[in-house]
Amino acid sequence: WPLTGDVAGVRDPFDFSNVYVNGTRRANAAILMLARNSEIDKAANSVRDLEDRFNSNFGYPWIFLNEEPFTEEFKERIRNITSGPVEFGLIPSDHWFQPDWVDEEKATQGRDKLVSQNIIYGDSVSYRNMCRFNSGFFYRHPLLKNFKWYWRVEPDVRFHCDISFDPFIYMEEHGKVYSFTITLYEYRETIPTLWDTVKEFINDHPEYLAPNNSMAYLSNDDGRTYNLCHFWSNFEIADLDFWRGEAYTEFFNYLDSKAGFYYERWGDAPVHSIAAALFARKDQIQFFDEIGYEHAPFTHCPRAGKSRKENHCSCRPWQSFDYTGYSCMRKWEKIQ
Ligand code: GDP
Ligand code: MN
Repeated sequence: WPLTGDVAGVRDPFDFSNVYVNGTRRANAAILMLARNSEIDKAANSVRDLEDRFNSNFGYPWIFLNEEPFTEEFKERIRNITSGPVEFGLIPSDHWFQPDWVDEEKATQGRDKLVSQNIIYGDSVSYRNMCRFNSGFFYRHPLLKNFKWYWRVEPDVRFHCDISFDPFIYMEEHGKVYSFTITLYEYRETIPTLWDTVKEFINDHPEYLAPNNSMAYLSNDDGRTYNLCHFWSNFEIADLDFWRGEAYTEFFNYLDSKAGFYYERWGDAPVHSIAAALFARKDQIQFFDEIGYEHAPFTHCPRAGKSRKENHCSCRPWQSFDYTGYSCMRKWEKIQ
């Protein structure tokens, strides 16, 4: 078996141990999953799907992150079903837990308010930790340090079609920074002050706005209000350097200083999406129609019958989320 590379350390340019399986060129990329030990069955299902449909042919490394150490069972079962190198990382506690300077009384009031509005995860502090981590910290983890590209995968998702091309190489060759398969509306109650905060930031830093950005996807009135459209970030293939760059670093720090991740329930999906839509050009954002993807309760199934047949898709095309009422796909296509 040719895959023996250690992805954690420095990547030796003469180490070709990770270049093979199907013999084509590899991107500097890793597949990334944040998971809890209790999610091992669901994590294994996702890994198994992506390995069968894609990675057994490509051998990209996997990185698993958790704020608690992974159990031996978790590691063993994952190692048994992955083709590439695997790393299990611990998240530093200051990247995960609610910081001391956050006013706990305000945070409690914020949670109570969302509970009274029956909003999912309204009372959950750990969910807020996760959203803040996925917004501002994952790309700084030491295990990701030497990588440029990542593919985010969650426990219990499904990949419905063979992915016979390399999406990382596609991104690289076409100058893309961010990609998605599903776009939808956010719950307004979780982000009451997010858009005003974004507008304050843009006023202070108009230089970060990309020419030809996707403001018209986010707003129906030239930026005055947010229409709640975002890319569903449980699937992401993206450029880590975009998050590491100056615009996003300043943007995240500004959002974080307002503590909306705790006083409200700002999600990493709207935060990533707003940044990608404003700080990247619209031609740098990729919609991957060919990737059949499901995260309950929504599925994206490729549109072209030919692609579904060639790639042995198991999804039902009429179940595809793209043109349903809750989808922002029409809006996305209109601005292209
Ligand atoms: P949803 O998709 O918004 O319903 O949220 P999920 O429960 O799927 O969480 C999103 C991602 O974060 C998944 O990869 C979860 O495994 C992970 N996650 C959520 N909460 C925690 C947590 O407290 N600890 C760890 N380690 N991972 C978490
Ligand atoms: Mn999920």
